[in-house]
Amino acid sequence: MQALIECEGHTAVAESIRVVLARLRQEIADSQFDEKSLDLALGGLSAAVERQLRQSLGYSLLPLVNATGVILHTNLGRAPLAAAALDRVRATAGAYSNLEFDLSTGERGKRDVHVDRLFQKLLASDRAGDRVEAGLGPASAERSSAISTIVVNNNAAAVLLALNSLAEGGEVIVSRGELVEIGGSFRIPDVMSKSNATLREVGTTNRTRVADYENAISERTRLLLRVHRSNFEITGFTEQPGLPELVELARRRSVPLMEDLGSGALFDLRSVGVNDEPGVLDSLRAGVDIVTYSGDKLLGGPQAGLISGRADLVARLRSNSLFRALRVDKLTYAALEATLLAYVKRDHDAVPVLRMMRLSKEQIERRATKIVAEVESAKLKHLKLEILEGESVIGGGAAPSAVLPTRLIAITH
Ligand SMILES: *Cc1c(COP(=O)(O)O)cnc(C)c1O
Repeated sequence: MQALIECEGHTAVAESIRVVLARLRQEIADSQFDEKSLDLALGGLSAAVERQLRQSLGYSLLPLVNATGVILHTNLGRAPLAAAALDRVRATAGAYSNLEFDLSTGERGKRDVHVDRLFQKLLASDRAGDRVEAGLGPASAERSSAISTIVVNNNAAAVLLALNSLAEGGEVIVSRGELVEIGGSFRIPDVMSKSNATLREVGTTNRTRVADYENAISERTRLLLRVHRSNFEITGFTEQPGLPELVELARRRSVPLMEDLGSGALFDLRSVGVNDEPGVLDSLRAGVDIVTYSGDKLLGGPQAGLISGRADLVARLRSNSLFRALRVDKLTYAALEATLLAYVKRDHDAVPVLRMMRLSKEQIERRATKIVAEVESAKLKHLKLEILEGESVIGGGAAPSAVLPTRLIAITH
């Protein structure tokens, strides 16, 4: 053990020895002492201690290859970051920064400004070209100038903060068809009760009409909430009011309308053949007052919860003491700023998840052919590789039924 101790220190080596011996004793006590344990006891102890030591001093969180066909996989860490985002994290996280310091006035500043300015550009609904593309008329200056965005730890936190700030002590009206559960125990009714708002369910599982919302509005109503069905679909005999109808009702009865979009695309998915996934801009243009979405789903950035909408409502969220508890650090701002800049510059291929969604079947096939050739040149006789037609999905709570054409490599071992 002496060499190991010189290298890694007495404490770490002693701890590994204890772990290995305890395991061996346990095997004996459980009568699982087999030939392998005997080898270990007779001669393999130092090697086992070294293995244990390497493992305990090594990394547990490791990069891996995602061969699932799901672009945004929560279990595999959702969106890989853009190269520029990694550069910005490295540049700002290892040094001091102007995170909360206003360089123009020389006074204390707010951390929100670094990304709010970019969201302003991306979400301003008066970009003439986009409005023509989307077949919309000119935007009202009043709405487009008054959109602001804040950032919290994740979208679950965004929903909690919004409900608590806008509806504490009052009622929030939600369709029974939208009382969703997202992975990791995010459930709308539970978040609602944690926010101290009362859930007022309307409609039925499969059919909810705008009149159901209207009939439920009372002096206790604080908010109408629409939740995106991120990970399931209801098909058959169904009905759900369109956003314009809900917006009209919200305006007429002076109740704010909030939408939990989940995936939150800032990129028009229609360009990759996905037609039924609403974007953040679509919702804001339709007149939704507050939109919540994740930073690491379709946006392709770091884990974050984004809240965009009417500046006066966002200001109420910002002044809630919960906002301080849910705020994000400089690493997140650095990565988010770089990701948003790629959108502002319309450099969509710089964002890995967008690049992957935009790859054509032919581009993927070329990559598959190259991999197959490389494996075959290694002459691994027990492996047989074959390229097949296939489909992948976006994942991450986006377009649960949309598929992207791809090529698969089937490996027979
Ligand atoms: C993913 C999702 C959430 C949770 O977002 P996190 O960023 O994972 O906290 C909440 N609501 C909807 C509709 C979602 O799709």
